[in-house]
Amino acid sequence: MRAARFHPGDGLRIEDIERPDVGPGELLVEVAACGVCHSDLHLLDGDLPIPRPTTLGHEVAGTVVETGDGVSTAEGTDIAVFGGWGCGACAVCDRGEDQLCNLSNWLGIGNDGGYAEYLRVPTEKYVLPLDGLDPETAAPLTDAALTPYRAVRQAGDLTPADTVVCIGIGGLGQFGVQFAAMTGAQVVAVDVDETKLDRAVELGADATVNASEARVPSAISSVAAGEVTAVLDFVGADDTLQWASNALGVGGHLVLAGIGGGAIDFSWNPLAGQELTYRTVQWGSVPELREVLTVARRGDLDVRTEPVGFDDLQATLDRLRAGDVETRAVLRP
Ligand code: NAD
Ligand code: ZN
Ligand code: ZN
Repeated sequence: MRAARFHPGDGLRIEDIERPDVGPGELLVEVAACGVCHSDLHLLDGDLPIPRPTTLGHEVAGTVVETGDGVSTAEGTDIAVFGGWGCGACAVCDRGEDQLCNLSNWLGIGNDGGYAEYLRVPTEKYVLPLDGLDPETAAPLTDAALTPYRAVRQAGDLTPADTVVCIGIGGLGQFGVQFAAMTGAQVVAVDVDETKLDRAVELGADATVNASEARVPSAISSVAAGEVTAVLDFVGADDTLQWASNALGVGGHLVLAGIGGGAIDFSWNPLAGQELTYRTVQWGSVPELREVLTVARRGDLDVRTEPVGFDDLQATLDRLRAGDVETRAVLRP
């Protein structure tokens, strides 16, 4: 089968490799769609450790084509793959937060991922039926939508009187804006690219700030209806974290999803907003993915994708790096 594999120190190669076998409890999925996430760029850049050659791709939807002993999911079932795989045997996995167990168990990071014609999934716990969703739509839901869904849930009890700022309106941020808008809060979108900001308005943002033109914290406060209750940072650079921290009002939540490698000081600071909560989010859980799929099936999510083939994958990653992918690129192997 064809697969796009990352060779540490030597980039991405499209190769022909053996189709995986399935053992007891495992499933073989024929990949219909795999979203192209900015995290793949961090992996290719060595920001997240991958010790050995690995097939990348962690936003997968497809069809179960083979099952091992003890699997009850029928062959032929269309499914979305939950990618935050855990060890299945620790306290964190026991409480249903497999994605927090150990990054080196994740799909497309520690295990071969979905930039391939077939994917081995270790347990049926990690496949959720599409029940009518189109696979190209479903693939980004497993990460680009799931992570912002968790981010919004971690941003305090948002009400229609709140103001939420989303920074970085790419693959994740486009869902962040939608989930934040669903709480009824005022949503302010921040990006460096006017096209992304136009898209944010289509998706429910009430106001926008172009970070390449404005002094961001003061531009945010000039459009915010009240104090900023939460900032969801889908970039995670030094700048964006500093803007977030400066923009937050009393009791505000800064939720960091972006893996941009930035940092800010955390200290008692009478000049910044008081009693701030800073937290990171790491993907989302199986129950949260189930909820995201439910929202999408109800027709309440605007999911735009751009299909690409293996031959376009490297060029697509280059465009993603340059900020030139407007929605979510999805590999159709
Ligand atoms: P993307 O490339 O699709 O979108 C990034 C967006 O940020 C673009 O619209 C770009 O114009 C904008 N941007 C870049 N620099 C900016 C700046 N300084 N100020 C404002 N906007 C800026 O990326 P994506 O796939 O949405 O991923 C976003 C980030 O989230 C990446 O770092 C990715 O690795 C990370 N991520 C984290 C998790 C997690 O579990 N925490 C999951 C998935 C992705
Ligand atoms: Zn991702
Ligand atoms: Zn575990």
